[in-house]
Amino acid sequence: MIYLDHNATTPVDPEVLNAMLPLLREHFANPASPHPAGQAVARLVDRARRDVAILAGARPRDVVFTSGATEAANLAITGVLATAPPNRRRVLVGATEHPAVRAAAQAAVELHGGRVQTVRVHPDGAIDLSHLRALLHPMPPSTAGSAADPEGSGGPRGRGEADEVALVAVMAANNETGSLNDPRPVAALAHEAGALFLCDVTQAFGRIPVSVTEMGIDLAVASAHKMYGPKGTGALIAGRSVRARLAPLIHGGGQERGLRAGTLNTPGIVGFGAAARIAAAMMDDEAIRQRAQTDLLFDLLVGWLGAEALEVNGPVEDGSARPGLVRLPNTLNLRFVGADADAVQSCLPDVAVSAGSACHGGGSEPSPVLLAMGRSAAAARESLRFSVGRFTTVDQIHAAAATVARAVLRVQSLRAVGSGEVPPPAEPGEPELPAASGRPAAGWTGEVSPTPGRTPELPVPRSALP
Ligand code: PLP
Repeated sequence: MIYLDHNATTPVDPEVLNAMLPLLREHFANPASPHPAGQAVARLVDRARRDVAILAGARPRDVVFTSGATEAANLAITGVLATAPPNRRRVLVGATEHPAVRAAAQAAVELHGGRVQTVRVHPDGAIDLSHLRALLHPMPPSTAGSAADPEGSGGPRGRGEADEVALVAVMAANNETGSLNDPRPVAALAHEAGALFLCDVTQAFGRIPVSVTEMGIDLAVASAHKMYGPKGTGALIAGRSVRARLAPLIHGGGQERGLRAGTLNTPGIVGFGAAARIAAAMMDDEAIRQRAQTDLLFDLLVGWLGAEALEVNGPVEDGSARPGLVRLPNTLNLRFVGADADAVQSCLPDVAVSAGSACHGGGSEPSPVLLAMGRSAAAARESLRFSVGRFTTVDQIHAAAATVARAVLRVQSLRAVGSGEVPPPAEPGEPELPAASGRPAAGWTGEVSPTPGRTPELPVPRSALP
């Protein structure tokens, strides 16, 4: 299996596992217990808190451990709305936010009142700052008309009633396309309007530099399992003054300074700390290597399928169709024109990739992220996300490119057969490739089972690749 789905989750780094095992064996005590065994564990938790804080550019006290980014986002949004004044209950959410943020915002306004409005993104996935500005400072009701409510998604509000924004939620890096947002201008706009800024850094954390202090982020949410830590552990990172404006979601023994009650998940937290430490040491080198791998994957696919058969979902380099630099180095989201992504995926038993987000429940609905970027439903259904990781090798990229290219050509040719564009093959089984592809049919019909460490045989010599 070639695993190219690191944005869905990452394997646990062996060093992380080693750091966690003592917590499951000898260091099992409760860190809230005053006896020496408990205090020994409390020191390990403190160290993890410090390591996560360092990676986030925050103070250790600002880290509230949770069960993951989803819980952290729910705590942040519901927690802010619970204490917001009645005239400040609007929540602005980027159009490509993860469901953890979008659904949490919707639930929070249903519980505490207010409304959610969507901030548009540009076709490359970056947040539209002028639309954000317009939503933060809507025209007064007297001038309200067609253009006064720029989004119009929030429903009616009382005439003359103040309707300020409590929270702006814009992610640092998108999980499906890798598109990046610079948090600084978003923070500046939010603060100027008296709103708090929530930044989902789940996909950015450990991959690109994040500093909540320098970037003006009031509330950040992150998750261990996206950075080679364990599943079921994450954090909300919030400075003291912001924490004072949060109401907890979970009530109990007062752990995490009263913001998240419940006995700490000590193996998970210590694993998260170890993952943060490793990421801090490896981030720069990993980014260079992973960018080279996603670029190689793109070049190989263009070589096999032709540039016209591919479209990049996300930023592209100026004046070219190549993937741009303003994206997560490990992520490449491609549309394969004329090849349904689910069908391609079903031809890829040995390559793990994603059509849409794993967190969308695997339905065949087109990705809301791609639709928000202006892609058609048909284009979204033909799109696949590749996300490489710490243990991905160049050989795996070569093997995956060949296997994916075969699968795409197979699906395209089956579609052509189905539509009557080409005659069906004489024998049941694999269809002949359309002559127009300009590629030899022989050799393209079998599935590739890549041997680890070896590039599978290709139908034309490797030297034919660009
Ligand atoms: N935010 C983003 C951008 C994500 O990619 C994910 C997971 O896919 C989440 C939030 C939710 O994280 P968790 O699985 O820790 O709840």
